[in-house]
Amino acid sequence: MHFNILTVFPEMFPGTLGGGVVGRALANGIWSYKVINIRDFAINEYGSVDDTQFGGGAGMVMRPDVLGAALDSIENPGKIIYFSPRGPRLTQKMVRGFAETPENQVYTLLCGRYEGIDQRVIDTYGIMELSIGDYILSGGEIAAQVFVDSAVRLINNVLGGGEESTAEESFEIGGLEWPLYTRPSVWRGQSVPEVLLSGHHGNIERWRKQQSDIITKQRRPDLIKENKK
Ligand code: SAH
Repeated sequence: MHFNILTVFPEMFPGTLGGGVVGRALANGIWSYKVINIRDFAINEYGSVDDTQFGGGAGMVMRPDVLGAALDSIENPGKIIYFSPRGPRLTQKMVRGFAETPENQVYTLLCGRYEGIDQRVIDTYGIMELSIGDYILSGGEIAAQVFVDSAVRLINNVLGGGEESTAEESFEIGGLEWPLYTRPSVWRGQSVPEVLLSGHHGNIERWRKQQSDIITKQRRPDLIKENKK
C-alpha cells in the first residue's frame, strides 16, 4: 500500500504512524508514503496557498490552482481522498474495503487546513470526501493518520496475532468487545470472572458473546440496528 500525502505540515508525518506495529510495517516496506508539501506549489514567494472566501465570511480557503498543481505533480495518485467533516463517517466496514487488496494500492490523501478547499478541486478530480467523526479538527493530518493506521493494520502479518486478532475486534464481531482481563487473577481484592479461569472454551465463548451483547445494547444500540440491515 502506498500513500501520497498532501499537507502544509510535512513535519507531521509519519507522526504516530512511525511507532508500534504500523511503524514496524513501514520499516519493513509493507507500506510506504510520500509527503507532498502543498507550499511547494504556492502562488508567490511568500508561500501563499489560501485566499479569502468568495461571498464573504471569515476564514481562508485553499486555492484550486495550488492544489491542482500539487495533485498534477503526482505520477500515480490512485484514489484521491479529502478529509472533511462533510464526508461519510469512516467505519470499520469501509476500512476493510480500502484495505482489501493491499497489493498495488495507492491512495492520495489531501489534508485540508483553514476553512477547507475550493469545491472545484473536489469536482475536477472526482475526490472522495471522508470524515473521521462528528467534530471539527484544525486540519486533515490527524484524519489521514487515522485512515492509514486503520487500513495498514489490516494487511496480513502487520499484527502479531494474524487474522484472528482483527476478526475478534469490536465492529468486526457485530458489536463491542467483551471485558478483558489478564494477570494477576486477583488485583486489589477483585477477582476475574470464574468462567475465564475454567478452561471451558464453550462456556467462555458464550460468556463473551453475552457480555458483548449487553455492552453493545447499553452503549451503542445503533450498532445492533446497523447489523440487522
Ligand atoms: N470549515 C469546515 C471545517 C474546516 S477544519 C467545516 O465547517 O466543515 C479544517 C480541515 O480539517 C478540513 O479541511 C479537513 O481537512 C480537516 N477536518 C476537520 N474535521 C475533520 C473531520 N471530522 N474529519 C476529517 N477531516 C477533518
